[in-house]
Amino acid sequence: AVEDGDHYIINGSKIWTSTAKQADMIFCLVRTEPNAKKHEGITYITFPMSTPGIEVRPLVDMTGTANFNEVFFTDVRVPKSGVIFAPNKGWQVANATLTHERGMLGDPNATKARLLELITLMKTETVNGQRLIDNPMLRDRLMKLQAEVYAMQANGLRITTSRLQGQPAGLAGLIVKLQGCDLNHEIARLAIDALGELGILYEDGEHLRSGGTWQWRYMYDLGLIIGGGTAQIQKNIIAERGLDMPREPKLAKA
Ligand SMILES: Cc1cc2nc3c(=O)[nH]c(=O)nc-3n(C[C@H](O)[C@H](O)[C@H](O)COP(=O)(O)OP(=O)(O)OC[C@H]3O[C@@H](n4cnc5c(N)ncnc54)[C@H](O)[C@@H]3O)c2cc1C
Repeated sequence: AVEDGDHYIINGSKIWTSTAKQADMIFCLVRTEPNAKKHEGITYITFPMSTPGIEVRPLVDMTGTANFNEVFFTDVRVPKSGVIFAPNKGWQVANATLTHERGMLGDPNATKARLLELITLMKTETVNGQRLIDNPMLRDRLMKLQAEVYAMQANGLRITTSRLQGQPAGLAGLIVKLQGCDLNHEIARLAIDALGELGILYEDGEHLRSGGTWQWRYMYDLGLIIGGGTAQIQKNIIAERGLDMPREPKLAKA
């Protein structure tokens, strides 16, 4: 972005922008000081999606729906009044946003609601006359997932307690996104496995169960393991910031 009086002119593109097609507003991290260090010279700015020069191209993912988009910015003129915090200090704001995003993606209540849905499914669906929940192999997997969901809830309470005491959430906060997204995916996986041959159906039809929700979640949740910071990056953060392990080696400069 380049300055133009009390405006910035933005040029560039951003891929994987969730719900850009529906959004009224967008926030962007734009480079405003080209010669600054990697994490400096970035400005966090918000503006309406109706601003001239913005083009949104939907991307269809493997669920068959267009949940995210590629967004192109051509001479998009936005007022500086949209800057959050301060010019060139966007990295700090982005980290706060990411903390909220990761917390939201790993919400233990949402995971528990999904687990309860799975339990209902396993109590109502049958294979060869046997309720899914009465199959010992499936029930064993369900019990393991239930234990993890309860552990996640307890971890959520630990975070709340820390916050109420004015303490940082520390390691308890760092594991939320990784744990929650993996668990959501595993719950969807069990639903599909438990349904047997019906589990692989996705298109509309008389044998489709739960409107294909489990299959949709199984595919889309793979994306959520990536979005908001990949599982591998979460593990690095947990190791380095949470467990005080040595930083991963940097590549040698050519
Ligand atoms: C469903 C979904 C929604 C999204 N929504 C948005 C959105 O609304 N707005 C937005 O701006 N972006 C969005 N994204 C983009 C998302 O933030 C990035 O895809 C994600 O942060 C990963 O970055 P990347 O794609 O550049 O992968 P890269 O960083 O190129 O990583 C590629 C692979 O290498 C691994 N890797 C990279 N570095 C390391 C390392 N140091 N150690 C170990 N492994 C490493 C990664 O784990 C990954 O497997 C979304 C993505 C998805 C999938």
